[in-house]
Amino acid sequence: MTTPEPGLHPATIAVHAGRPPAVVDAPLNPPVVFASTYVGADPAGQGEVGYGRYGNPTWSALEQAVGELEGGSALAYASGMAAAHAALQLVPARGVLVLPRHCYLGVSSAAEERAARDGLQIRRVDVANAEEVIAAASGADLVWLESPTNPLMEVADLPTICGALAGVTTTLVDSTFATPLLQRPLDLGADLVLHSGTKFLSGHSDALLGVLVGRDSELLARLKGTRSLHGAAPGAMETYLVLRGLRTLPLRLTAAQANAQLLAERLAAHPGVTRVRYPGLPGDPGHAVAKRTMAGFGSLLSIELADGPTAVAFIQSVKLWVHATSLGGVESMLERRRRWAAELPTVPEGLVRLSVGVEHVEDLWTDLAQALERATPRDL
Ligand SMILES: *Cc1c(COP(=O)(O)O)cnc(C)c1O
Repeated sequence: MTTPEPGLHPATIAVHAGRPPAVVDAPLNPPVVFASTYVGADPAGQGEVGYGRYGNPTWSALEQAVGELEGGSALAYASGMAAAHAALQLVPARGVLVLPRHCYLGVSSAAEERAARDGLQIRRVDVANAEEVIAAASGADLVWLESPTNPLMEVADLPTICGALAGVTTTLVDSTFATPLLQRPLDLGADLVLHSGTKFLSGHSDALLGVLVGRDSELLARLKGTRSLHGAAPGAMETYLVLRGLRTLPLRLTAAQANAQLLAERLAAHPGVTRVRYPGLPGDPGHAVAKRTMAGFGSLLSIELADGPTAVAFIQSVKLWVHATSLGGVESMLERRRRWAAELPTVPEGLVRLSVGVEHVEDLWTDLAQALERATPRDL
């Protein structure tokens, strides 16, 4: 596996990391290795990999690339939730877990499941309040952060929080919304970074995958042991698709983020929209922290319409935007979060999350504007 020179820009690393050695007639891209098992070293022992659940050259290529981008070593999993589950296992029975008040719903549900089964104590915090998070971390086994959060777009002051907790307690940052390009939590003192590779890393809504990245070799060995044993291994094809998508992440994110900024500004000025949550807007509660701590504001935003029925009518009226529950793809997607029964009641009924893609921004705006026109009562 080739490793780019240190000091290269992330856009260059994304293109070059995790390629086979550049020798004559070698393929430019890592081969997709479909293997459930590998030839053993000798009758008494085993090779370095041994079996398909323990390792795969295609995983190694993706892990190399994501590891380079985050500044650590990566482990690939079958999905973001498989990675999340593996990380949640770091909390022992009756242990203490600090969890954001709002976070990815699957993570929240998986944590609640462990609380019910294993007596975990969950301390819910507002990630935007660094003091509250740091205070709650006292005696915790794992501090789980997500920033920006799903779907309220709250922004955590990661340099302050991760700096204060470094060496004190294990801290994980679900950085799915930010991608490795907008923040690098390991540099700030976090122990683990989680990505749902299903989203921005893949970018094409065609593969499920998760990643954990860290620097502590003991912690990584423990996680790798659990992955080998519990079997949350990604498919070789999915891994390849995510690596292929990763090559264009910088281009996709730049385009999507520019679209998101313009759409957020126009939506904020629209009389049918009650509120826009996007850290790129100067009036947003997360703006100052995001501006100081992130390299960009990302391509996700949430809007609030008058009520649930208005949001439903709005979604029924879009023609180009895709109604779907994922995010981070080249296709612009939206959904009303409260359509999920488990979504928290603190998420407004009329909130619609928008994952802005890379289409031409005027086409995206035209579609949103006509849908708002149809959905919002004229006298607003
Ligand atoms: C999608 C997502 C996950 C879960 O990832 P899957 O690949 O769907 O299992 C975790 N965290 C965040 C922030 C996500 O958006």
